[in-house]
Amino acid sequence: MTTEAERAEQMATIGEEITGLTESPLYDYRTVNHYNPAIGEGNLMAKIVFIGEAPGEVEAKTGRPFVGPAGRLLDSLLATIGLKREDVYITNVVKDRPPDNRDPRVKEVRLYSPFLWRQLEIIQPKIIVPLGRHALDFVRKHFGGFPAEGSVSTLHGTAYPVDAPYGRAFVVPLYHPAVTFYREDLQETVEKDFCLLGELLANHETTPL
Ligand code: URA
Repeated sequence: MTTEAERAEQMATIGEEITGLTESPLYDYRTVNHYNPAIGEGNLMAKIVFIGEAPGEVEAKTGRPFVGPAGRLLDSLLATIGLKREDVYITNVVKDRPPDNRDPRVKEVRLYSPFLWRQLEIIQPKIIVPLGRHALDFVRKHFGGFPAEGSVSTLHGTAYPVDAPYGRAFVVPLYHPAVTFYREDLQETVEKDFCLLGELLANHETTPL
């Protein structure tokens, strides 16, 4: 088991590599707009890692993931299960903001995914929570044992055991919190799914995964 200091050093290396990622199609957009990459933040010893899609404008301005409107929702959902941002680790598949919040392109996902993979190897979370479709695709491509078929709408709110390189883990796909901005009818589902996550974590305190 690596120490927090060792993890911080490894994470800093990843941060430097992403900051200097001139081959990224999003690099020029970042520099022209004085944006920053949002590498990830939170507890490097966390049992649980949340993975979003890509930074929005507030995130790119601050260099911090999930600190805009979607982040405020995530914070309040975390609070419903007694967690603070500092208890978990939060990051994205793509670390730079795509123009006008468009979907990340295949090439961008391919370029940034190895960084996310390394982040997961550093933190070794027992629970991995992909938020939305792009993070779900990442999990599907990288974790053996995860269902090959199904979208967020069919897989959300269930804990799937997967083979991580560091051992057994669970993937719990959730709707991206921002879905409730345009699908109010999903609010209750999103909250219920978070409750399940809370239960899984509470069980983990007594029964190691
Ligand atoms: N949406 C995401 O997917 N990630 C962020 O960091 C912010 C909004």
